[in-house]
Amino acid sequence: MKVLGIESSCDETGVAVYDTALSGAAGLRAHAVYSQIALHAEYGGVVPELASRDHVRKLLPLVRQTLGEAGLSVSDLDGVAYTAGPGLVGALLVGAGVARSLAWALDLPAIGVHHMEGHLLAPLMEDDPPEAPFVALLVSGGHTQLVAVDRIGSYRLLGETLDDAAGEAFDKTAKLMGLPYPGGPQLAKLAETGTPGVFKFSRPMTDRPGLDFSFSGLKTQVLLAWRDSDQTDATKANIARGFEDAVVDTLAIKCERALEAAGCKVLVVAGGVGANKRLRAKLQAMTEQRGGRVCFPRPALCTDNGAMIAFAGALRLQAGQHDDAAVHVTPRWDMATLPAV
Ligand code: ATP
Ligand code: MG
Ligand code: FE
Repeated sequence: MKVLGIESSCDETGVAVYDTALSGAAGLRAHAVYSQIALHAEYGGVVPELASRDHVRKLLPLVRQTLGEAGLSVSDLDGVAYTAGPGLVGALLVGAGVARSLAWALDLPAIGVHHMEGHLLAPLMEDDPPEAPFVALLVSGGHTQLVAVDRIGSYRLLGETLDDAAGEAFDKTAKLMGLPYPGGPQLAKLAETGTPGVFKFSRPMTDRPGLDFSFSGLKTQVLLAWRDSDQTDATKANIARGFEDAVVDTLAIKCERALEAAGCKVLVVAGGVGANKRLRAKLQAMTEQRGGRVCFPRPALCTDNGAMIAFAGALRLQAGQHDDAAVHVTPRWDMATLPAV
């Protein structure tokens, strides 16, 4: 089954074709992402109305380009999947409108995909995919969640952030040290040149039981350290390293606890912060030591993309699930309410 996937929940337009006849990484026939970063940079954050308009401009050309790269035409498709939420309502409506129209014109089944389920299932698109049950760490710009995956489509929330998401903390911390928007990846890059241990920040909420997170206090710790420092480039890198180590350690401690609580050996990590090199290394070491393993998508599929939507949609369409022919999005949507596959 060849499924066209469309992602437009925020500031990335993503399109892909996933073919279930070719499993693993080979199933991804083509994928393309257009990022609106430059459009929003001067505002220091995503402007919803500008995001919607840019999706309108970019989506159809990107569909054409992706099909071309896959060597397919629309008549080869067997289904259409699109992000139906959570996300910015206008941005979601663009993707949903295009997807539903294509599906209607081509007489194909279409399905609205939960953006976080897309992230969560992305590691399963790679070769040697894990099988449920496993524990998933979702670390993105808007979410930090630990989820018990009993089977595909059946998600139990084990813990989540009480304030900032991990990616949001990276972005805000980068901003307060003057790094350009969006700061997360830049802060991570800077941290590579920093010396560990020069600045030591706390590992929030690890001194008590539980699987919830809190990252907003770390940002304040960095603000104070930066303000009282000499503000040289070397210091900036050392602070970045101290911050990254604090976030990575905190995530690793909670992941280990979650695996323990769920009696699981397999950890799946997805979302933009999953691209972080130090996080990948730390979780690799932790799971290996427990005799298990950790599964990540390749870095390009950690951040928003159409591939994860095509893949998640394909799993549901294959199971016979699809939505009726209405343009409907769900800007706020609890993943626990999804039907099992
Ligand atoms: P959500 O999926 O929760 O709706 P989102 O779609 O905006 O949020 P993603 O695209 O999954 O989030 O990820 C973007 C986030 O990942 C940003 O906050 C960014 O700073 C962070 N990020 C990307 N690369 C890295 C990295 N190497 N290290 C740390 N953070 C990173
Ligand atoms: Mg984005
Ligand atoms: Fe995302």
